[in-house]
Amino acid sequence: EKYEQGLTKSRTTFGQKLNALFANFRSVDEEFFDRLEDMLIESDVGFETSMRITDELRDEVKLQNAKKPKDVQNVIVQKMIEIYDSEGNGEDNSLHLAETGPSVLLFVGVNGVGKTTTIGKLAKRFKNEGKKVLLVAADTFRAGAIEQLNVWAQRDGVDIVKNEPGSDPAAAVFDGVKKAKAEAYDILLVDTAGRLQNKVNLMNELAKMKKILTREIPDSPHEVLLVLDATTGQNAMTQAKTFKETTDVSGIVLTKLDGTAKGGIVLAIRNELHLPVKLVGLGEKVTDLADFDPNNFVYGLFK
Ligand code: GDP
Repeated sequence: EKYEQGLTKSRTTFGQKLNALFANFRSVDEEFFDRLEDMLIESDVGFETSMRITDELRDEVKLQNAKKPKDVQNVIVQKMIEIYDSEGNGEDNSLHLAETGPSVLLFVGVNGVGKTTTIGKLAKRFKNEGKKVLLVAADTFRAGAIEQLNVWAQRDGVDIVKNEPGSDPAAAVFDGVKKAKAEAYDILLVDTAGRLQNKVNLMNELAKMKKILTREIPDSPHEVLLVLDATTGQNAMTQAKTFKETTDVSGIVLTKLDGTAKGGIVLAIRNELHLPVKLVGLGEKVTDLADFDPNNFVYGLFK
């Protein structure tokens, strides 16, 4: 239900536009496909992905000899879900955690996308599941970032490792992982600084953190989650491409989906970045975080 509310904006524009298109066109002709393609692009589905959906739809419509827009609507829903299935090779969208010992989740992304908020929400979720959670403030470049994470730690009632602003972020990771092992924490959520201005620095920094993690907990980090702001559309796509060149990203957290009328970016991420969206942010409150479910998402748009 949370999910449905959070998608209200995307549904009322992206979904309504699609529905209107199907309602207004009597026959499925070239003009119909042109309009559909434009509409998908306007909704942040991205050029490449919009073309793919439209092309495949055109073929499928021929194959099935579908004439009425209503029949075609079912095909497009299937196509959108298929983008997930084919790209994902059946992989699931759930978070990968350690079988035993602490699970380490590293969060990357530029400032303002909602990294800290996501960590705060997720910490509470894990705590509610009875897990022992530790936050690590490895975004040491901004005093504000450390303080903000600290506010979440207090609010959630979970522990935090925080060093002085300006200290080596890898040192915070080292302290965090040592503590997690010694005190049997289940979940380690690491906030990092995402300064894309200096890619080489960022790359080295993340590599250093990962090296420490892997040395201390062999199969960690279990997730490297790139946080993207859905309201920034193609900018988010550009950021994602840069981060992918910088480090191994295992999944996407798409925040502020409640604030965009163009939920189509979800499809672009899958088709162009080949990364699963694992979590979505649907508001500012601690409970406004949901697992991503492609079926629900696509069907939700057309409701
Ligand atoms: P960070 O710099 O990446 O750590 O970003 P923050 O966590 O500080 O978030 C930046 C702003 O976005 C804050 O005002 C958050 O409340 C807001 N925010 C984060 N996630 C969401 C979301 O899913 N929906 C909405 N509407 N706002 C969000």
